[in-house]
Amino acid sequence: MQKTDWAALGQETTQTLSELIQIDTTNPPGNEYKAIEYLREKLAHEGIASEIFEKEQGRSNLVARLKGQRPGKKLLLLSHVDVVPAPDPKKWKYPPFSGAIAEGYVWGRGALDMKNITATHYTIFTLFKRLNIDFAGELIFAATADEEKGSTYGAAWLAHMHPETLRADWCLTEGGGMPLQIASKTFYTIESVEKGLWWFKVRVKGTSGHGSLPHPDNALTKAAYIIDRVSNYKFPKQIAPAVREFILKAGEALGPEIKKIALVLLDESQELDLSMLPKDSPISATLLNALVRTTISPTMIHAGVKENVIPDSCEFVLDCRLVPGYTQQKVRETLLELADRYKNDIEIETIQQHDVSESPIDDPFYKLIERTVKEELPSVETIPIMLTGATDSRFVRGLGVKSYGFCPLSTKMSLADREKLIHNDNERVDLESLELGVRVLSKIALKALEARL
Ligand SMILES: [Zn+2]
Repeated sequence: MQKTDWAALGQETTQTLSELIQIDTTNPPGNEYKAIEYLREKLAHEGIASEIFEKEQGRSNLVARLKGQRPGKKLLLLSHVDVVPAPDPKKWKYPPFSGAIAEGYVWGRGALDMKNITATHYTIFTLFKRLNIDFAGELIFAATADEEKGSTYGAAWLAHMHPETLRADWCLTEGGGMPLQIASKTFYTIESVEKGLWWFKVRVKGTSGHGSLPHPDNALTKAAYIIDRVSNYKFPKQIAPAVREFILKAGEALGPEIKKIALVLLDESQELDLSMLPKDSPISATLLNALVRTTISPTMIHAGVKENVIPDSCEFVLDCRLVPGYTQQKVRETLLELADRYKNDIEIETIQQHDVSESPIDDPFYKLIERTVKEELPSVETIPIMLTGATDSRFVRGLGVKSYGFCPLSTKMSLADREKLIHNDNERVDLESLELGVRVLSKIALKALEARL
């Protein structure tokens, strides 16, 4: 590998990214076919065939495969090509679909979420072809539609209708690789677990009446009682292995005082007053609470038709996020308990849900990511993270694929700065990050597929 010119591959990735950004795949409506056609032609130039899968015309997904000479593991490089809207182009220094390469950055919608990773995966995939190396197993490149709107036309649909396209031993995708500064240490995040989601409506029934004659069967008052109890309820702690390691490593980096707090936090039999955390803690009490337990937030409410009519119905929405090991059934039981004397007056209706998804952090592929980061970036450490949101990992994990969110970015911008840019104005990625991503992910892929160089 000595001869591989990573700077040149970084520049190629930069160019591909700039071109991908210039293709407007704002979702809705998506029009992912434009980006997919671009990739398909580019692959054809390299002599690589690809297949397109569509649930609906225009909502394209592309899958291409390179088979090794020996039996081995299958590695899937998974990214989505749709982007969120850029509603206010005037606020951008360079227009959102310019793909401008300026001031050391590639600018535009998708530069961080996640056309940067599509471009990186593309470079790695074609590198395998160009090097004409002897490797084991199979490398799969998948670029999908509709991630930003739930993947109904993308990974969710592919996993359901064409599971063979995504089935692999391991997958690399978005969700990690951000440098996280904790005290004097820099950690690279590896996403291995995503909380489950259950949005549901609670309908409380009561009896109507005149507002001038109050009675206790008021649906609104009953809902208020339930909402109050739900909001003050703490689900039992249930700590995923990745979260445990995250809190231990972060606690360690923050010194003995915080380490003590971390250990109490990790003790499932002890409750901790998170206000004990120092105000300048790099990890907020709110986030820590969300990492160690299932949570519920009331988010919407509706009742009543007139000022002087006691409502016979009140509906409110709860946003529930589940940790691994917790089920909707358990949440439902808890809710009925909290509803107490009103438990027979409520109905529960699911609005949207998806399961928890998790890949093990003691897997050889996870260890390989860790080891490669250590070799390539000796001054940093890795740290597993759980997302409170979700990525397409959940669909491939559902197929039994061990999926990890990882594509390293440089330390040029802090995690907080980057998070501000994702789905926001002036989204951009620095050129160093693109070169770093290609170099580190290539090495991971080459090792995973036992390439003989
Ligand atoms: Zn994304």
